[in-house]
Amino acid sequence: MTIILATHNKHKRDELAKLLGDHAEVQLLPEDFPDIEETGATLEENARIKAQAVFDHFYQPVLADDTGLEVEALNGAPGVYTARFAGENATYEDNCRKLLNDLEDESNRNAVFKTVLCYLDSGGNEQLFFGAVLGTISRERKGSKGFGYDPVFIPLEGGGKTFAEMTAEEKNGLSHRARAITSFTSWIQV
Ligand code: IMP
Repeated sequence: MTIILATHNKHKRDELAKLLGDHAEVQLLPEDFPDIEETGATLEENARIKAQAVFDHFYQPVLADDTGLEVEALNGAPGVYTARFAGENATYEDNCRKLLNDLEDESNRNAVFKTVLCYLDSGGNEQLFFGAVLGTISRERKGSKGFGYDPVFIPLEGGGKTFAEMTAEEKNGLSHRARAITSFTSWIQV
């Protein structure tokens, strides 16, 4: 079976493809496929919107993911706005800077990364999967691997390292996306 991954994000595609391994052959979304606007109010809605847009074009099994970072001291922000926290065209660097600035005088640094996966099978039937990892936001950026908020996110079970200080294998051992993928792969095998 071939599953189309509904993302243009190269880092995410690589992570997803690695995590899916032999469970499915993955096809990447063609570069010229237009960006899909994430207009949903929740991660679930956004994952659904992306999966449906790709399915409506290819009529093949699709896996779409949406991820958000929720920070306790910011009442759950950035949440669905995680990609655009510092503005519409914000870079990963801009977003990390804004987060560190917003939390400058804050001692509660608790945060959670959440991923929702939406799978549509060849008949367009939907199944949702969820993964989360608890952690804290560091005081400064550390590490150069990964992407997004990896340099400022310290997972609770990661021995004090940020995601950006971990190898891909270490991050995949405990990340939000890996957990969601694991529940997807166990489901698709039965
Ligand atoms: P998306 O909506 O799934 O593309 O994710 C929204 C934003 O969350 C991305 O633009 C990244 O900034 C951030 N993000 C998603 N996954 C990760 C991750 O594994 N590590 C760090 N940041 C991430």
